Amino acid sequence: MRGEPISVQRIKRLADSRFKNIYLYIAFTVGFLAVVANGFISNRLGNGVIGIGSMTIPVSSISGCVQAISVMACIFMVLIDYRTGVKLAIFTFLFSIFGITRNIIANNTLSSAPGAVNCLIYILVTVIIGKQLQMADRFALTDSSTGLPNRYGFERELDNRLHGSERGYVAYLHIGGFHDLNANLGRKYGNRILMEVSDRISEIIGEHGDVFKIEGAEFALILSEGCKYESLLNQVIEAIEEPIIVDKNGIKVNCFVTATAGVADFFDRRMTTDEVMLCTDVAMNYAVNNSDEDCKISTYNDALRAEVAKANEMEKMITDALKTDNFYLQYQPQYILDGKRLRGFEALVRMRLHDGSVVSPTIFIPVAERTDLILEIDKYVRKRVMKEFKDICIEKGEGFVVSVNVSAKEISNPTFAEEILEAMKETGFPPECFEIEITEYSFVQSLDNTRQNITELRDHGIKIAVDDFGTGYTSLSQLLNLPVTLLKIDKSLIDNLEDSEINRDFVKTVIYMGHLMNCEVISEGVENESQLRLLNQFDCDFIQGFVWSRPIDYEEAVSLCR
Ligand code: C2E
Ligand code: MG
Ligand code: MG
Repeated sequence: MRGEPISVQRIKRLADSRFKNIYLYIAFTVGFLAVVANGFISNRLGNGVIGIGSMTIPVSSISGCVQAISVMACIFMVLIDYRTGVKLAIFTFLFSIFGITRNIIANNTLSSAPGAVNCLIYILVTVIIGKQLQMADRFALTDSSTGLPNRYGFERELDNRLHGSERGYVAYLHIGGFHDLNANLGRKYGNRILMEVSDRISEIIGEHGDVFKIEGAEFALILSEGCKYESLLNQVIEAIEEPIIVDKNGIKVNCFVTATAGVADFFDRRMTTDEVMLCTDVAMNYAVNNSDEDCKISTYNDALRAEVAKANEMEKMITDALKTDNFYLQYQPQYILDGKRLRGFEALVRMRLHDGSVVSPTIFIPVAERTDLILEIDKYVRKRVMKEFKDICIEKGEGFVVSVNVSAKEISNPTFAEEILEAMKETGFPPECFEIEITEYSFVQSLDNTRQNITELRDHGIKIAVDDFGTGYTSLSQLLNLPVTLLKIDKSLIDNLEDSEINRDFVKTVIYMGHLMNCEVISEGVENESQLRLLNQFDCDFIQGFVWSRPIDYEEAVSLCR
């Protein structure tokens, strides 16, 4: 709307208003009455004059004014709704021509014939304005890169369906990895990829619904009531994730994007367009943050609404705790298994609420990880650890270690290593006493950045531990290429040590292979003496667990060091 006169903007706002039909019929009534009045004036008063006091006004100029009113009303109708407006305007002017023709026949004079010609011109003008508006509308409602209807087109269509009491589903499709491809290959190729994605979606959706391109890498679908939306969306996602071949300067490049979908239905007739869009948005955000290989579609329901509300509340609590300094640390001792000598501590963060209760990181860390709040929390933890343990570490020297957990989001950030080294320089913390724990998941996300960061940190003497080892993604061979210094065997493997021979063999092998790779090995979550005995037999280097100590406060940790 930028650049258009204010008056046109106002009329467009009227056109989007829900009272549009009322405005339209008021304008029609005014235009029609003006035409009738004009016919009456010309017929009854002829070419005379009307006297007001000592002044006279020719009837022809009154007739001109009334005609101008009818023309204005008709143009207004066309601007409000060009489809219905043009039809009503043509009807009004044809009625006027009919009146004029009747006059000509009754009075046997052609004096009012120019009026009929005027009406024909007005019909032509309104049709031209209507056509122009139709073209502008089509342009404003179309996405230029794919040719699909855009967000406005989507909202208008959904609005029409809701007003028409239709039922169905709305789905948003989020295309992952597109922005990286766009940045690496350039906009021209990015648009080709989007075109291909849009063709694949449209081909599968076909008769089952309509496809819209609503944001940079987001599509919307309006699906009919009877369709099997889950199977359709699964087909769409599968098709999108097939490689897309782009010809770049004669070289064929295989491009991959991912897709996740959020769905909401509009079965409830009381729902507004905004409400349906909000529900779909919630479902799509949930799908983007929680989807895995097996489940890439999330459907809006009451449970999802409650979960999202809970996560939002938790997010607010985290933000508050960061502002009011309500995070604090506990330290869990790690011991050298042989002889129970202290190796160091793992710093574990806790959140205190206003009522004094404490929230476990297992509850707030997953929420913080979905937002950038985890970056602030981890930064806070590092700052605190460096401040609280600097003197002890300098005193104890190499061999004593304090470790901190680092989220996958941080370790894959290209400036992470630089930031840590800067903090070390500022605080004077000895790098050989600092260990960062990364999870296996970090190797799935941006492996190149992660490798670069940990190599740089290792070059400066900082130790690198792989936390929760054995729960997922990494193979030992993958680790061979990374300068990792410690494997932390996950508690779930230690839990079954006494009962499961497979677990025993696995843990034994991990310890053996870890040593072959020049890594030390720690077992976490050790809770009893028989686990300790077995780990001792397997030659495990360190242990961390309730059997020797739970996480403790700073003062207690300091006294353990003395
Ligand atoms: P993690 O890094 O694997 O930390 C070990 C968790 O196991 C800690 O739980 C610890 O209290 C618990 N644990 C240790 N020994 C035993 C045992 O013998 N028995 C049992 N039942 N549990 C044991 P916590 O403190 O609740 O931390 C949970 C997770 O939260 C951590 O797992 C880590 O993934 C995350 N976390 C904690 N602090 C931070 C932090 O500062 N930053 C980040 N990014 N994550 C953190
Ligand atoms: Mg840890
Ligand atoms: Mg762990």
